[in-house]
Parts: sequence; structure tokens; C-alpha cells
Amino acid sequence: MTHNVTLIKGDGVGPEVTESACRIIEAAGVDIAWDECEAGKKSFEAGISSGVPDATVESIIQNKVVLKGPLETPVGYGGKSANVTLRKLFETYGNIRPARTLPGVITPFSDRDIDLVIIRENVEDLYTGIEHMQSPNVAQCLKVITRRGCEKIVRLAFEVARAEGRKTVHCATKANIMKLSEGMLKRVFEEIAPEYPDIESHHIIIDNCAHQLVIHPEQFDVIVTTNLNGDILSDLCSGLVGGLGFAPSANLGSQAAIFEAVHGSAPTIAGQNIVNPTSVILSSVMMLRYLGEFDAADKIEQAVYQTLKQGIFTADVPGDHQKVTTTAFTDKVIDNMGIPLEGWAPRTYKAIDMDVPVECSRREPSYQEVGMDVMIRGSIDPRLLGQSLEAMTADLDVALHGISNRGMQVYPQPATLPDLVDSWQCRFKVRPGVRTLTAEQSLQILARIQEQFEWSHVEKLLEVDGDVAYTKAQGE
Ligand code: NAP
Repeated sequence: MTHNVTLIKGDGVGPEVTESACRIIEAAGVDIAWDECEAGKKSFEAGISSGVPDATVESIIQNKVVLKGPLETPVGYGGKSANVTLRKLFETYGNIRPARTLPGVITPFSDRDIDLVIIRENVEDLYTGIEHMQSPNVAQCLKVITRRGCEKIVRLAFEVARAEGRKTVHCATKANIMKLSEGMLKRVFEEIAPEYPDIESHHIIIDNCAHQLVIHPEQFDVIVTTNLNGDILSDLCSGLVGGLGFAPSANLGSQAAIFEAVHGSAPTIAGQNIVNPTSVILSSVMMLRYLGEFDAADKIEQAVYQTLKQGIFTADVPGDHQKVTTTAFTDKVIDNMGIPLEGWAPRTYKAIDMDVPVECSRREPSYQEVGMDVMIRGSIDPRLLGQSLEAMTADLDVALHGISNRGMQVYPQPATLPDLVDSWQCRFKVRPGVRTLTAEQSLQILARIQEQFEWSHVEKLLEVDGDVAYTKAQGE
């Protein structure tokens, strides 16, 4: 069977590593019709502001599977990374990053038998890239976590566990501090876990997870986590097994799957035939399993492990061993195909079920608006600000509840004040006996504030299904 795959060779070392992977796939006997497309540096230079030409988008829509080299985001051409654009365009919400102890690759953790996979949410969280300056001195970045996004990534984690015959899924969050955003992943995980009784499930606080990964990495099987946490944890895991040159990844979604190395374009070593191609080769092994080519995937994986076990490495791998070029490493992997690797048992992989329906987001919770936070800008005395806001809302159904600065309550004034910045979160809540904040009263408050102060933005306070759905100020 011929598979149609979009090939984006990428920038810097990209053409060298993808060439290596394509040669190895061909040698394994898999028939792929590659549709070579552009994205990244050249596209930016050609004036395509997203870095992803329409022809590339069309090709991915048709083929649904991509093998991709790293893309550079050149300074001065486009603001946003073409990698992130591709992930978002095709809603590849799951970033799958396995980390497995590799034969022959000496690290401080070589004897630990690590075999885990990080499932990183790939399109939400702080990576929505919504940033603003609240004032000239205060920056903010919006952490967006959706119930639907959480359900998709949690289900994917359990489905990957099933497809790979794994026994345990840990959900790693910072729900103890970010109770609504990180907490949503924890709550959805706990809702969905009982649907997978064949798999053990645990929640773990993300900082403890990082600690445990270094102290006792072999305890983990599958870890599902939010985008930024996953970015950091998966790099940590790459380090445990030999570094970025060995770390493969898949970006999975229901519209497309993009397989790529974890490392970037490494421009300082590009074009010298010295880059380590293992990361892209192992990414292409993941791609072959996604395409249902399980035997060819096992064959290539085994040949890579055999080559590493023989001590054949590119120059980036430290140690006193034979250092070969990228092409010589590739030749060796091809030569090693079919030679059994003693002591190595491939996992029994099955296809990942990507079509599990997302259910909990279909439930429409009830909610009501019970107040609003208004950010006010400027160097102001908090006591005077508080007194002014109380006076201007005295005749309304809404009262000033408190003012905080960098999340710490400063009015009513506590015994000590933190370092104050020129951006104040002023919270108004409906008075006892009033059910909701009306649109008219919200606008009235803003109009009155505007007469004396500068407001920068507004967040409505919600109660969802009767539960308070906003956080208190620290010290409140
Ligand atoms: P990088 O390209 O990963 O390279 C950092 C350094 O790591 C390289 O200079 C090289 O070290 C070493 N290295 C990485 N991969 C290697 C490999 N396969 N074999 C041997 N050595 C390897 O990170 P960066 O310099 O931060 O990023 C460069 C560009 O890539 C940026 O434009 C960035 O935006 C982009 N990027 C793209 C992706 C992607 O497409 N998914 C991911 C990350 C970064 P030595 O210099 O010590 O030899």
C-alpha cells in the first residue's frame, strides 16, 4: 500500500535529518509518496507572514500525515512561530513524547530502564500567546484551559496507554495553586479515569513529578499534563535518556498528525553532515505505527537500537567512541536492519483510537454573573482608591469587595503591604440579596471609574453550577 505523506524538510539541519529518515523508511520497504512542501524560513523570506504557504496547508489537508524537520522563526520576518501555526491550524492537540533508555547511550540514568511517554496538551495554556501590558510596567499572559481541551488530552493519554499496553497514567498539574485552570485538567482527569478501569490513574503535583522523574523515573508509564508543564517535563525526560538529538515526537489531532524531532534547526552545525538524525528517525518510527506499518516500525527501531548498542554515534554524543557522519550513521542503521537485537522486546503497539467522542463538554453548565474585576492603572494610594470606589458605588446594587495588587489583597488594608505596582485589581460584587450583575450596572461602574481613573480591562465574576468560579485574592 502506498501512503501519501507531506514532507517538510525544514531549515538548518532539517534537510539532513529528514533525508536520513526517508532513506531508512525506503530501506525498510515502506512505500511512501512524499509530497515535498515548504514552510519556515524561506516562506517568511518570501513574504508569507504565517511561514506556512497555502500549498503546504492544502497538501496536509489532503494527506493528513506530515514528516517535518525543524523550522526556524527568523527574527524580523514574522512574529509567530511557523511550528506553532502548523500545530494550531490542524488542531494537533496532543504532543506525544516518549523517553526510553537507549542501548549504548551512557547517561547518569542509563541503568534505570526508563520507558515512559509524556502526553502534552499542545494548543492551549500560555501558548495561546495572548499577552498584554496592563500598564507600562506590568505584563500579563492569559493561561487558557478549556474543558473540551482537557477532555481531549486526557482521553488521548488513556488511548495511548491502551494502544501501547501501558498500565498507569499520571496526571501532573499545579492544581494546588491554579485551582481553576490547572485544576480543570485534574477534575476532568478524575471524571474520565473510571472509564478506563484497565489502567491505573494517579494525580501528581507537577513539581513533585519533576523531582520524582529525576529520583525514580522508572515508576512512570504515561504522564498527561498541560502545555507549558509538558514542554519543560518532556525536555527533562529527553535529558534522562541522552538529550534532544535522541528525542522523537508526534503532534496528534483528529485532522492531521505531524511527526517531528524535538530539537530545532541547530544552525551552527547545519550542512556539515554531523547532525544526529536519531530524533527524526524515531519520529518516523512513530509515524509508521500511526500509518499501521507496525512491522516496519519495529524493524527500524531495532536497527537504530542495534546501531547505538554497537557504539556508533554522531559527534554530539559525549564519550570515547567512534564518531560518524550523519550519512554514515544512516548507512549503518540500514545495514543493521533485520539483525536481531539481543534482550530487546518491542512493545505490542495497536492503532491509537483518535475518534473517541468528547462527551463532558456537551453538558452545558448553568452560570450567572455576580460581579466584576476592573483593572485600574496608575500610581495610586490603595486606601484613597478604595474609598473613592466605595463612594462611587454607594447607590448601586454592586459594592467594592476589595482591591489587590499582584494578586495580594491591599484594600481593606492588611497589616503589611507587598511591593506595589501601578496596576490594581478592583473587585466589585453584587450586594447580598441581589442575584446577578446587570449589563447596565457594569457599564455604570466603568463610566464612573473613567471619570477619576484609567481602567485597562474587565473580567466578569461567574458562579458556574452554583460554585464560585473565580479565585480569592491572597490574604483575603
Ligand atoms: P536547537 O536548534 O535545538 O539547537 C541547540 C543546540 O543543540 C545546537 O546548536 C546543537 O548544539 C544541539 N543539537 C540540537 N539538535 C541536535 C542534533 N540533532 N544533533 C546534534 N546536535 C544537536 O535549538 P535553538 O538553537 O534554540 O533553535 C534554533 C532554531 O530552531 C530557532 O529558530 C528555533 O525557533 C527553532 N526551533 C524549532 C523547533 C521545531 O521546529 N520543532 C524546535 C525548537 C527550536 P551544538 O551547537 O553544541 O552542537
